[in-house]
Amino acid sequence: MSEVLIGIDLGGTNVKTAVVSRAGEVLGKDCRPTRASEGPDVVIDMMVESAEAALSQASVAQSNVLAAGIGAPGPMNWQTGVVFSPPNLPGWKDMPLADTMAKRLGVPCFVDNDANVACFGEFWLGAGRDVDSMVLLTLGTGVGGGIIVMGKLLRGPDGTAAEVGHLCVRRNGRRCNCGARGCLETYASVTGMVRTAVDGIQAGHQTALLERCGGDLEKITGRMISEAAQAGDGFAAWVIGETGVWLGAAIGSLINLLNPEKVVLAGGMIAAGEMLFSPARATAKRQSFEVPGSRASVEAATLGGDAGVIGAAGCALERLGLI
Ligand SMILES: [Zn+2]
Repeated sequence: MSEVLIGIDLGGTNVKTAVVSRAGEVLGKDCRPTRASEGPDVVIDMMVESAEAALSQASVAQSNVLAAGIGAPGPMNWQTGVVFSPPNLPGWKDMPLADTMAKRLGVPCFVDNDANVACFGEFWLGAGRDVDSMVLLTLGTGVGGGIIVMGKLLRGPDGTAAEVGHLCVRRNGRRCNCGARGCLETYASVTGMVRTAVDGIQAGHQTALLERCGGDLEKITGRMISEAAQAGDGFAAWVIGETGVWLGAAIGSLINLLNPEKVVLAGGMIAAGEMLFSPARATAKRQSFEVPGSRASVEAATLGGDAGVIGAAGCALERLGLI
């Protein structure tokens, strides 16, 4: 049996695990509730049980495990593996997650930020598998992401690098949860797109969205906008296009800054397809230098919900110096 890695994606709702071979073959998977409200000890138990279940599904013995990688939310010290106090994991305070899991699993454990881990997953086995430099933007409630330059994840000394969602795209723009104004995620996340729709409707634009939300603007969702656009609603299509333009402006800056070969977009919003990608690509091209702008392609992620577990396993391999 070949040597394998365990990749764990620790979320506030679910713990997901994959057993991945060194060659990048996913051999077994598990997903179970995090039980975050029951405190850190229960969550650690869930992670251990999930790892054991994934190993058993893969028919791999514990002795074949090289290391485990964990993608965790919130601020942390990626070098020591201490997780500070993630907002969606109540009761966690300066938890030595890497050391705790290393004792429980009996193998070296490494902890990384969940967004960076997802980026590494797409880089290792997904949309970025054929390139050395890429940027990932995950479009969800916020905008997360990661950066790989010449095969290395850009973490930064404090692990806070690659906060692409908080690139300023507009001076004095919308207020962001981070406290600043005009951050990319206030325009290009699902939440930002919904805000663009609500602002437009309040300014008097006519749209079938009003009917879809039953007149209650707070009920508008990203999916609703996408469905209305696909059904031919001009305003909804404009909202998605506008979101793509905000995204493209940031991508243009990222291209000038980092010279990536690919900019990969992930998250539910990419289902909007060309309505989103086409304005994003056109704006990125306009906003970047010719050489890096022509090199960088803007593409959809390919791993979906598996990017985290695969990336966590990949990050462990990277930390061992084997990738
Ligand atoms: Zn921000």
